[in-house]
Amino acid sequence: MGTVSAYFGKLVFDDRVMKANLSAKVYQSLKKTIDEGAKLDISVANAVATAMKDWAIANGATHYTHWFQPLTGITAEKHDSFIAPSPDGGVIMEFSGKELIKGEPDASSFPSGGLRATFEARGYTAWDPTSYAFIKGKTLCIPTAFCSYGGEALDKKTPLLRSMEALSKQAIRILRLFGNDTVKCVRTSVGPEQEYFLVDKEMYDQRRDLRFTGRTLFGAKPPKGQELDDHYFGVIKPRVEAYMQELNEELWKLGILAKTEHNEVAPAQHELAPIYTTTNIATDHNQLTMEIMQKVAAKHGLVCLLHEKPFAGVNGSGKHNNWSISTDAGVNLLSPGETPYENAQFLLFLCAVIKAVDDYQDLLRISVATAGNDHRLGANEAPPAVVSIFLGDELNAVIEAIQKDEPYSAAAKTKMKLGVDVLPKFNRDTTDRNRTSPFAFTGNKFEFRMLGSSNSIACANIMLNSAVAESLRIYADRLEQAEDFETTLHEMIRKTIKDHKRIIFNGNGYDDAWIKEATEQRGLLNYRTTPDCMPHLLDQKNVDMLTSQKVFSEAELKSRYEIMLDNYCKAVMIEAGTMVDMARTEIAPAVESYALDVAKTAAAKKALDAGLACSYESGLVKKLSTLTDRIAVKTDELEQALRSLDSAENIGAQANAIRDTLLTKMSELRAACDEAEVVTAKKYWPFPTYGDLLFGVK
Ligand code: ADP
Ligand code: MG
Repeated sequence: MGTVSAYFGKLVFDDRVMKANLSAKVYQSLKKTIDEGAKLDISVANAVATAMKDWAIANGATHYTHWFQPLTGITAEKHDSFIAPSPDGGVIMEFSGKELIKGEPDASSFPSGGLRATFEARGYTAWDPTSYAFIKGKTLCIPTAFCSYGGEALDKKTPLLRSMEALSKQAIRILRLFGNDTVKCVRTSVGPEQEYFLVDKEMYDQRRDLRFTGRTLFGAKPPKGQELDDHYFGVIKPRVEAYMQELNEELWKLGILAKTEHNEVAPAQHELAPIYTTTNIATDHNQLTMEIMQKVAAKHGLVCLLHEKPFAGVNGSGKHNNWSISTDAGVNLLSPGETPYENAQFLLFLCAVIKAVDDYQDLLRISVATAGNDHRLGANEAPPAVVSIFLGDELNAVIEAIQKDEPYSAAAKTKMKLGVDVLPKFNRDTTDRNRTSPFAFTGNKFEFRMLGSSNSIACANIMLNSAVAESLRIYADRLEQAEDFETTLHEMIRKTIKDHKRIIFNGNGYDDAWIKEATEQRGLLNYRTTPDCMPHLLDQKNVDMLTSQKVFSEAELKSRYEIMLDNYCKAVMIEAGTMVDMARTEIAPAVESYALDVAKTAAAKKALDAGLACSYESGLVKKLSTLTDRIAVKTDELEQALRSLDSAENIGAQANAIRDTLLTKMSELRAACDEAEVVTAKKYWPFPTYGDLLFGVK
């Protein structure tokens, strides 16, 4: 394989390759497009396309694809080969600038939430030159955005790029007010920590629930779970180690900065974290990472589960979105500064985030809402569905002192006024690492922890960027008009703290008492499920903010509301259908045949000697038949509930019915089956158990 630095990024058409393969003029002009969003000339596009094609072919590629992220949550690609016929009966390899810039996948089957129907049947893909092209297998993949002909976004990348633009624009206004007249662009960066489970492929194949839905729908708790905490950061088993090693190599070849890996809390659970990078690239990389994780697993006889809750009773998997804002000069705006003046600027950006998170709690909750993630949020293992911010002791003390207009510490003596030299220099707080907070300040970045492991990070960052852009816009509007900058700044920061203090919570987010306090005393939102939160996407304040920041049009928001709920409904309905099927054709017959054999034993014993007691056998047969009866009844009820969903008038009503009845019926059927599992002899059980799955990989 050679050294990492020799093969890192070898499958990426990155800056090094561009420099080496493009003329200076073409390279400069492409750089301008990448760095400043300048419009790309077709002659430049043609030159880039040719260089890309030659490089791709030299690296084994025969095809190219516009790689995009439709609202299905996974990536999509349609491959075209480079070949074109030559007059002499042979072929030549072709790829034009036009083909690089724009593609027209026959995309009518991708969800559009009604958008396409009203405009055009097809959508088109447009090259995102800010994210490098790469080779996967024999295909050159070109990262693209996916839109309808009416210009509506049909993907996750387009609004993400718009939200980054919105934030940059407002942040620059603020920085100008602080005297920075060189900044050209402000970017957000993300480092997503990705959790996942590994299970044995042979066992996985025997479970239809895993194959159809990505999670187990049945399974009694094994005698050993995660209670010993012996897996967290534990020694990595050889099979897993071999997997991680190959995964790293594959990711490194794609220029993905895979950095940290360790075992997680649950048995069979692991985590991978890359080094952070610009948000849209981090998003592309995270999608690719999830895909490669699954591919590499298959080569090792394993399956990588990215579902948020593959197993009941042990921790689910999340994704921590480490997020920061920095200038094109590399200055992190969420880093407390060296001087009071820098600290004032830091405090303003901090306040912008505090205000954004409080004002748009609902949008943040919505951005992570999926059927799978509903099982995690609020289940005493992941942050609750209530959004709050953790600041840490020191920063919290600073904030409180500012609000009360009091000295920050006894030593400081003087009252604080921002922008003047009495503002204390404070250090990054690295002491407390509150793992229970949904949104934690961790020194120079915020860590948004509500994302589910399978979520695209695009959604969370779209909402986060937009909401912060809105706070900054309000601040900039006011500060630009201010007669006395420092006084206005000071007042604004104080007011933000006063108005939005309720969102700050430094205690234990898993505590029930907190949920009570948050909702009853502080008036924070607690949308426990996807159907609870999703309608609020269309609340007027949210539509106003997202449209005025030019991140979504109203039509796009409506379509997204439809698609998100439709995804939710389909996911749960497939689960319910799978349960009916498994209970009827696998579980009930298994329990039945065990009962029959036990009954036979009882009969045989009786025939042998009328005096033999068979109370064990007859008791067991009775118990088993009570259970099979219950399983049959619960299966019928679930099937009935599933059928009646078809009559719901709209997607909102259907989602509510799923939340209120279908999920209850599912857990009733599961309870009966799990009870049967623990009294049925192992060899009768039709598929691998929790114990097998969770401890099966050596
Ligand atoms: P943990 O939260 O597991 O203790 P770290 O805090 O060291 O781990 O890092 C977690 C993730 O945060 C990594 O992906 C890392 O690259 C990312 N990260 C570190 N600094 C920043 C930053 N300034 N902006 C965005 N992400 C960052
Ligand atoms: Mg973390």
